[in-house]
Parts: sequence; structure tokens; C-alpha cells
Amino acid sequence: MYNIKSTKAEEFIAHHEIVESMEYARNNYRNRELLEALLTKANESKGLTHREAAVLLECDLPDINEKIFALARRIKEQLYGNRIVMFAPLYLSNYCVNGCIYCPYHAKNKQMPRKRLTQEEIAKEVVALQDIGHKRLAIESGEHPATPIEYILESIETIYNIHHRNGAIRRVNVNIAATTVENYRKLKAANIGTYILFQETYHKENYQKLHPTGPKANYAYHTEAIDRAMEGGIDDVGLGVLFGLSNYLYDFIGLLMHAEHLEAVRGVGPHTISVPRICPADDVDLNIFTHAVADSVFEKLVAVIRVSVPYTGMIVSTRESQRSREKALELGVSQLSGGSHTTVGGYQADHQTEDTAQFSVSDHRSLDEVVGWLLDMGYIPSFCTACYNLGRTGARFMSLVKGGKIAGHCTSNALITLKEYLQDYASESVKQKGLKVIEAEKDKRTKE
Ligand code: SF4
Ligand code: SF4
Repeated sequence: MYNIKSTKAEEFIAHHEIVESMEYARNNYRNRELLEALLTKANESKGLTHREAAVLLECDLPDINEKIFALARRIKEQLYGNRIVMFAPLYLSNYCVNGCIYCPYHAKNKQMPRKRLTQEEIAKEVVALQDIGHKRLAIESGEHPATPIEYILESIETIYNIHHRNGAIRRVNVNIAATTVENYRKLKAANIGTYILFQETYHKENYQKLHPTGPKANYAYHTEAIDRAMEGGIDDVGLGVLFGLSNYLYDFIGLLMHAEHLEAVRGVGPHTISVPRICPADDVDLNIFTHAVADSVFEKLVAVIRVSVPYTGMIVSTRESQRSREKALELGVSQLSGGSHTTVGGYQADHQTEDTAQFSVSDHRSLDEVVGWLLDMGYIPSFCTACYNLGRTGARFMSLVKGGKIAGHCTSNALITLKEYLQDYASESVKQKGLKVIEAEKDKRTKE
């Protein structure tokens, strides 16, 4: 039975509700009257239900699709302005007891060199990240007795306490395995930013095939983890599916139902939604993934998530190519990783091999190059962490976004933190580009 407020995964992500919503979308994907009505509703920037959003996603009428893309651009501009928040992933350990068949860190991959950073090595990684200008990190770790919660907490403390030259990491987001309410409380007390946990796929049967062994094999425990995180006091949480593991429409509907559930039960939807796609990696046979998502579908997914869940930040990683990231930025993505290494210990110059990479990086450019590229496209790269530092999290943050009041904060803070970046870390050409953008923004604001 579908029950949005249930605490049970199989009820708030009810399979029959997803299947019926898919049928509804397939019966209405060319229903002009309905599509126009949905566009009118979405134009109010208050979002759409999972069923309504599914119709837009399936629509193949070129003129309606153009309207969807235009609306995604408008909503993004209205709610977030033209800032793009920068972050970097920091891989702490690739030891893992789980058997996820799409991830090279799975326990049976004997070719994968295993590594767990010591606190001294973490400190070196952080100095290397600070030296290129990062202020916001997302820590990643496999699930293993070698990396208990105490190790994660100690690592967070190490990261926050390194103050090198002009740098300091101001926000540590955490992407670790599903855990207990008690452990989430400890993470909250350690001042984490967002707790991110990808569902991978909402399709239970596929989930079980893709996760044959290890604690992650428990679909309900994994799917209910975000609720436990919120119960533990973490009010900024991030959702995501790995598109390509199951039918994209199924997972898209599941993702929106999860967001609706959080809002209904916790009063706050997800702070971020990530949109990774399955990609090549060591010991992962891509031929077994028959649901691979084409670029055109990926772009549509980004745009329809943007118009359906307007208050949520969207993240794209360096798995995506430069071209694909350009399109995703235009259609709704508001956070971007840059200059990333997906290896354990990858940021120190002498450890830059891909042996321990979780996935292949398609965008290999340095942070400086990514910042220059964003400036060329008219965006303001931002190193802002102000909301987190001022306690604007959870429901407080959401009410500001929903009221259209965050873009003003974002733009001012983006300009200040960009200037800081340009002065301290940028190459001369990026510095000149950035200073011009800052002047132009100031002029624009004076005239307004
Ligand atoms: Fe382990 Fe995460 Fe990889 Fe699964 S996806 S094998 S849990 S690191
Ligand atoms: Fe993010 Fe808040 Fe800064 Fe805007 S003002 S970039 S929402 S931290």
C-alpha cells in the first residue's frame, strides 16, 4: 500500500504506485491539454507531483520539450541566480564489505589496491585541496570495519582543523554508508554539512541483484537511512540515484516520491539531488547494464527535476564530460565538483594514479580551468558556505529558497568568495576574467 507518511520503505516508495505512475505517463505523454496545464503549474515554481513530473519526462513533443527546457532555465535563474557552488570529493578509504556490482570497490575485486588514509595523509590531502582554493568538501568512504564511525569523526575533525596559508575547509559534506540514528547524531555533532546517500536504484528487485552481499543488500535499511539521518538531527540531506542501473523513469519517480516523503514527514525535502550516470570503472562490466541513459534523456532528467523540485540544489560530478556538464548547468545544476580526484590520496602530487579510482573521471580539468570555463559562460563560480555557517539549514533554508529569497544572498556571497579565490589561487588569466565579471555584476546591481 502506498503511504507517503509511512516509515517503511516499501510503503513510501510503493512499487505499485511507481508502476501506475509510469502507465499514467505513457498514456498521457502527448496529451497537450494536460502538458500545458502542467507547465502552467510548474511555472509557479512550487513544483510538481511525481506523477505529473513523469508525464513531462515522457513527453516527446518538440515544442513542449522546448518549453520545459526554457522553464528549467528560468526557475534556476530565479531561485539561485547565476552562481555555481564549487566542491571537491575527498576519498578517505576504498575498503568495502559490500558487493555492489557497479562499483570497483566491491569486496570481491581483488585487483583493487586498498587504501585507508591516516590522519596525517588526510591532513596532506586537505592542504593540497586548500592550495588550489577549495572550501567545501564531500568525504567518501566504503563501508568496512577499518573505517568505523570513530574514524570518520576523527577525519572530519582533522579536516576542519587544518588552516594552511589562506585556506580552511568551511563545510564537510559526508557520503558514507547507511548507519544508525546514534551515528547520525554523532555526525551532526561533528558539524557536518549535508549527509548524502545515493539510493542507487529504487527498484527493489534490481536493487537486490545489484547488491548481492554485505549490509547494503538490505533494501529497507538503505532506503530508510535518510529518515534515520533526519531523526538524528541532520536537516540537510542529499538524494541521488545512479541512472542506468534500472529503467530511468522508474528511478526518477522513486526519487521524487522519496523527496515528497521527506517533505511530508520531516517538513523538509532534500537539500540536494545528485544526477550521476553509470560509467566505466575497473572490474565493472558495462555490458550488463542495459538501462544506460543517453545524453538526450539525461538532459531531460535534469530539466524535469529542476522544474519539479525547484527548492533543491542539483549536483553533477566529473563523471560527466565538459559538454554534458555545460548542458546540465544550463538546465538546472547548481553545484559542481572541479579539479576532482576519485582516488584515495589522489590530491597529493605524488599519488595521482588512477589505480584506486571509484569511477573514471570524464572532466579532467583543474579547478582553475573549471573556474575560467564557468566565467566564460557567464556563471559566477562560488566558494560560499554562508548558509551553513549562519545556521540557515533545513526548514529555515527551504523557506528562503521557496520564498525566492536565497538568490540575493547567493550572488553577493558568490562575488565575495570568488574575489577571495581570484586573489589567492587563480592563474593570471582567470583572475583578469573574474575581476571583469565582478565589475560587471556590480554595475548591473547599481543600475537595478
Ligand atoms: Fe562499497 Fe559504496 Fe562501492 Fe558499494 S558503492 S562497493 S558500498 S564503496
Ligand atoms: Fe549556498 Fe547559501 Fe551561499 Fe547561496 S548563500 S551559495 S545557498 S551557502
